[in-house]
Amino acid sequence: MAELTLDHITKTFDDGGDEIVAVDDVSIDIADGEFLVLVGPSGCGKSTTLRTIAGLESITDGEIRLGGDVINDKRPQDRNTAMVFQSYALYPHMTVRGNMAFGLEESTQLSDDEIDDRVTEAAEMMGIADLLDRKPGELSGGQQQRVALGRAIVRNPEAFLMDEPLANLDAKLRAQMRTELQRIQEDLGVTTIYVTHDQTEAMTMGDRIAILDDGELQQVGTPLECYHEPANLFVAGFIGEPSMNTFEARVDGATLVTDDFEYDLSQRHRDAIGAREDVVFGIRPEDVEVGADTADGHTYAVTVDVVEPKGDENYVHMTFDDDHETPDTFTATIGGLRQVDAGDSVVVRFPPEAIHVFDAGSGEAVL
Ligand code: ATP
Repeated sequence: MAELTLDHITKTFDDGGDEIVAVDDVSIDIADGEFLVLVGPSGCGKSTTLRTIAGLESITDGEIRLGGDVINDKRPQDRNTAMVFQSYALYPHMTVRGNMAFGLEESTQLSDDEIDDRVTEAAEMMGIADLLDRKPGELSGGQQQRVALGRAIVRNPEAFLMDEPLANLDAKLRAQMRTELQRIQEDLGVTTIYVTHDQTEAMTMGDRIAILDDGELQQVGTPLECYHEPANLFVAGFIGEPSMNTFEARVDGATLVTDDFEYDLSQRHRDAIGAREDVVFGIRPEDVEVGADTADGHTYAVTVDVVEPKGDENYVHMTFDDDHETPDTFTATIGGLRQVDAGDSVVVRFPPEAIHVFDAGSGEAVL
């Protein structure tokens, strides 16, 4: 069993006397064989978290356990993890075979034949068996990335640690490699932590995703949990494309009031909101009903500003029709065959079962 536990880990750097808290009291339990994606904007502490697990950075506080053993103070080579970098980090003067086998003799008790077998097996798994005698300079970027992944597989580690491994590939190859990587990870059943800043990659690859902002863990959950039940405004804005529409609002009895619209609250909404007065109202673009034919306390007249065709769907940017000085704009997603054009007047509905409400002060989700 190789479950991986980050137990209140903190990592600070000293930047010429200033303390930078790169990882701030982060705790995550990653199950044996799980594929966990660490995601967040640039500088949020993803790479530092991964590097502390690999032993490339020491932690300032907390405990890291792999398969039940505390590994905080172990040297990187003694941790039984294998890291894959965005830059591939291959030795240019060595063949693919040499790169994949490098260090195995010292770190394991394997004979040359056994190492050779492992390298061949991993190379076959990665589809690079016919490239074993080439040097990295004679390979495409995609092939080099396969070598880097193959090198990690050969080590037969308890955990794969991957830092944006597909970031240097073009979009098509990246999509292909995502699927392949998931298949291999599932076949091998090795606990994996995968760092990316790309929320689409996180949503499609992770069994669960852990969302970081400014060194702090915002939410850990399945992609669907984080999408449907974002813990706070940050997660709501970060997960989902286009982002959730949000409006500052006031609660006035059974009505939620923004600068542009009033929204009838149900008893369920009111129970969740409690005594709060200042909230943020949220609705995902795909939850906006465009062309609603029943008028109720959830429908509004709007004007279409721009239609962005995206193939099988359109992003429709709209503005409320009201006499407010700067009416709010928002985005709806509708199927590609539905036709609305810039300048059209339409009625939209924000269905009561789909709305989100956040505390205006803390940003925490209340609904
Ligand atoms: P990116 O996606 O841009 O790689 P990240 O989420 O991986 O970002 P980190 O590289 O972990 O973020 O950096 C987190 C914070 O720690 C940043 O503010 C960064 O400037 C700082 N940091 C990282 N390494 C060091 C270091 N060696 N010395 C000082 N500060 C550092």
